Amino acid sequence: MSESIERIKCLIIGSGPAGYTAAIYAARADLKPVLYTGMEPGGQLTTTTEVDNFPGYPEGIDGPTMMVQLQQQAERFGTEVRIGMVTAVEFSEKVGGIHKVTVDNAKQIEAETVIISTGATAKYLGLPSEQKLRGGGVSACAVCDGFFYKGQEVAIVGAGDTAAEEATYLANLCSKVTMLVRKDYMRASKAMQHRVNNTKNLEVLYNTEVDEVLGDQVVEGLRMVNNQTGEKSEIKITGLFIAIGHKPNTDIFKGQLEMDETGYIITKGKSTKTNMPGVFASGDVQDNEYRQAVTAAGTGCMAALDAERYLATLETED
Ligand SMILES: Cc1cc2nc3c(=O)[nH]c(=O)nc-3n(C[C@H](O)[C@H](O)[C@H](O)COP(=O)(O)OP(=O)(O)OC[C@H]3O[C@@H](n4cnc5c(N)ncnc54)[C@H](O)[C@@H]3O)c2cc1C
Repeated sequence: MSESIERIKCLIIGSGPAGYTAAIYAARADLKPVLYTGMEPGGQLTTTTEVDNFPGYPEGIDGPTMMVQLQQQAERFGTEVRIGMVTAVEFSEKVGGIHKVTVDNAKQIEAETVIISTGATAKYLGLPSEQKLRGGGVSACAVCDGFFYKGQEVAIVGAGDTAAEEATYLANLCSKVTMLVRKDYMRASKAMQHRVNNTKNLEVLYNTEVDEVLGDQVVEGLRMVNNQTGEKSEIKITGLFIAIGHKPNTDIFKGQLEMDETGYIITKGKSTKTNMPGVFASGDVQDNEYRQAVTAAGTGCMAALDAERYLATLETED
């Protein structure tokens, strides 16, 4: 049974750094935001123990604690944080139009502005040993976690530009990086391949896949398999980085918002504006380049300011 329709000024979808920062700014601008957390309250950072690079935490902080603090800061200014998943949207193409949103396939909300902060999910290989050791040496973010493996031997899986970029980033920090490429060639651009091939402590193994991540509590090694010969071999490593891509969480917006070929929402110029008036996107959902908590928070701030200015313009036009 559907409940009665609720009308609000600002709806924020997602509870990562982008969503909560948008909420802090929107609440302080008196937009009385309502934020839906989705299936992962606190977002991706709740899956990591150490965040060392978010400004303002000189000793570092664990991800779940940081996200609770962001939520508390958003609530302090009046954000209403609700558990729930946005399951359908019907955006208005009209300036000043009302956007219709369905939560958990039941509740209907009408919003004057919508801020999308649904993030992007890192892809993993799906091996049980990889899943067991996530947070224990298996990571999908070299820029976030590479520092913890300074001077150590690590491996990275992937063959695209991001994988090549992350492999050379790791090679700057680690004593040795082994890069596993499934095919007999790399998808990365020629320039990136050149960088990889000219990095001394970076070895590329083609036609090679992960057979099993070794270690009980933490990563201790990797068993690899050559997919041409079936031959298996092992190396000792302390960190395994998975760089096989991300999937932006945008399925429910398909057909309504402009996206790139991977599904990242396209925003206009330096703003967070989408192709729909009054609909804004912030954080990883619109960023296939940086994907960091601080950049997500920065664009969350921008989205709330864009929403506030959009509403102010409507009022002047009335
Ligand atoms: C293991 C790991 C470690 C990391 N470490 C660091 C680090 O040390 N430093 C750093 O800067 N970055 C780190 N990152 C990257 C950082 O977590 C992301 O860049 C950041 O969380 C992106 O924020 P976001 O708000 O855009 O999205 P996310 O954090 O991905 O949050 C998305 C939110 O949207 C919600 N959602 C999705 N779909 C719906 C829906 N339909 N309805 C309602 N809600 C929905 C989810 O429940 C979630 O709350 C790490 C990432 C990972 C995976």
